[in-house]
Amino acid sequence: MTESLQSTTTLHNGVEMPLFGLGVFETREGRQVRNAVRWALEAGYRSVDTATIYDNEAGVGRAIRESGVPREEIFVTTKVWNSDQRSGSTLHGFETSLRDLQMDYVDLYLVHWPVAGHFTQTWRDLETIYESGRARAIGVSNFMLEHLEELLPQTRILPMVNQIEFHPYLQSPQLAAFCQEAGIQLEAWAPIMKGRVTKVEELRDLGSKYGKTAVQVTLRWLLQRVIVAIPKSRKQQRIIDNADIFDFELTAEEVAMIDDLDRDQRIGPSPYTFKF
Ligand code: NDP
Repeated sequence: MTESLQSTTTLHNGVEMPLFGLGVFETREGRQVRNAVRWALEAGYRSVDTATIYDNEAGVGRAIRESGVPREEIFVTTKVWNSDQRSGSTLHGFETSLRDLQMDYVDLYLVHWPVAGHFTQTWRDLETIYESGRARAIGVSNFMLEHLEELLPQTRILPMVNQIEFHPYLQSPQLAAFCQEAGIQLEAWAPIMKGRVTKVEELRDLGSKYGKTAVQVTLRWLLQRVIVAIPKSRKQQRIIDNADIFDFELTAEEVAMIDDLDRDQRIGPSPYTFKF
């Protein structure tokens, strides 16, 4: 049983990554993001997922500094944006992220999207960053099988993480199996389907058995599948409630039942057709 909000998975380079964290996409810079991060740290979260494009790294960094929790106890993820990949300025983008965060390292730096014709060079830049010690781990995001098959033969360092859209209605079983076999940790974005799991009857029914919500059942399912989850909320009570998943355990049959809900249905942009 996954024990607590601080439980970790070991990445292939030995770094411990919390299985649960706070996402801050569309959480506004300033008071909104500072509050969300503060509430999460107070509730026991020890991982925050931001990105250059979210335009809130400064607020994330400030909230962490003001929390009183030692920096080394918090796992901070950020990501290089597509325009930096296209203009070949990944290293500069990384420096800007560190400056905005006011940190001298991040725990995980990700290639945000597989920008065709550029992601291999971007990855080489991430390898350089990793070897400089300023990112404790590096990884990719939104990389499908085709992207990994193109990238992996050209890497010196295997990505430690692939952060993809993953939830009960989108489970990409082949990609998930590939990553698991290769030793690439899967991380789920939109893990609660942007709130829409609350409408899924099977998840609600399962929740009522345990006195839990559909959101909590979904997040518990991800933990038991050893997939990192970073649900986002800007509301204190939801930030607390979303993490209240360490006092029950789904049976193997219930995990399989949620596995069977897969519909190959995306909520967000497709990694094959995105243009931004
Ligand atoms: P989520 O699946 O985490 O859902 C977030 C939405 O659900 C918000 O609208 C939130 O509203 C609502 N919500 C949160 N808790 C509850 C609850 N208990 N009951 C009902 N509704 C709830 O989607 P995200 O897209 O935010 O994904 C999570 C994180 O993943 C992002 O924040 C970001 O860090 C990362 N991400 C990465 C991407 C990538 O390309 N790598 C793409 C997209 C996201 P409210 O805030 O009002 O509570």
